[in-house]
Amino acid sequence: MKDLLIVSAIETFYGPSQALFGVDLTVREGEVVALMGRNGMGKTTTIASICGLEKFSAGTVTFNGADVGPLPSHKIARLGIGLVPEGRRCFPNLTVYENLVAAARPGAWTLDRVHKLFPRLKERYNQYASTLSGGEQQMLAIGRALMTNPILLILDEATEGLAPVIRKEIWQAVRDLKASGQSILIVDKTLSELLPVADQCVILEKGTTVWSGAPADLNRDIENRYLGV
Ligand code: ATP
Repeated sequence: MKDLLIVSAIETFYGPSQALFGVDLTVREGEVVALMGRNGMGKTTTIASICGLEKFSAGTVTFNGADVGPLPSHKIARLGIGLVPEGRRCFPNLTVYENLVAAARPGAWTLDRVHKLFPRLKERYNQYASTLSGGEQQMLAIGRALMTNPILLILDEATEGLAPVIRKEIWQAVRDLKASGQSILIVDKTLSELLPVADQCVILEKGTTVWSGAPADLNRDIENRYLGV
C-alpha cells in the first residue's frame, strides 16, 4: 500500500504558544487511521496543520507526493483532502441540496451515492441546513466532504455530542466508507467504535506522537497512560 499522507516532525504555534512539538503520522492508501489522545493534546491542531488552516513552522506534510507546506488551504483541499471539521461547518442559509452540490467535484461520489449513504439527507434535501438536527448536520458535513471526491477524508470528532441513534448511523457510514476503500483519518472519543474500524492508531500527548501501532497492540498500560481510560 502506498503512503498517502506523511506527517513528519511538525511543529505548530498559536502566536508565541507552541501546540505541536513533533507530530508524526502516516496514512496509507485505503487505511483508516485513528488519531487519539486526551483533550488539548493537539489532534485538532494536527488536522488544521495538514489542511493548511494553521501553518506549521518545522517538519513536513506530504500528501499524495506533494509537499503541502507552502500551499494555501484551498489548494490543499483541491489535491484531494476532504475535511469534516470539529463542530460541522455547513452553510446554514443553504438547503441540504445546495450544500451538497456547492462542494461537488467530479468522481465516484455523486448526489445519489451520498443519498444512499445517508437517506435522511434525501428526505431533507429542500430544508435549510440551519433547521437540521446536530446529527443531520454532521451527515451533511460528511456528505459535503464526499461530494468533493476526496482521496483522503478527515473526520475531526466524528460523533461528539450526537444522539446515540445518529452515532450508530455515522459509525455504520464510516464502516461502509472503509469497505469501499476510502482512506480516512479520524478523531473520536468512542474507543469501542473507533478501534474496530481503525487499521492504525496514533496517540498524541502534549503535541507529540508518543505511540503508534495497530489497535490490537494497544494495551491497558498505554490506554491508562495516554488515553485516561
Ligand atoms: P480537543 O479534543 O479538546 O479538541 P485536541 O487534542 O484537538 O483537543 P487542540 O485543540 O489541537 O487539541 O489543542 C492543542 C493545544 O493548542 C492546546 O493546548 C490548546 O489549548 C492550544 N490551542 C488550540 N487552539 C488554539 C488557538 N486558537 N489559540 C491558542 N491556543 C490554541
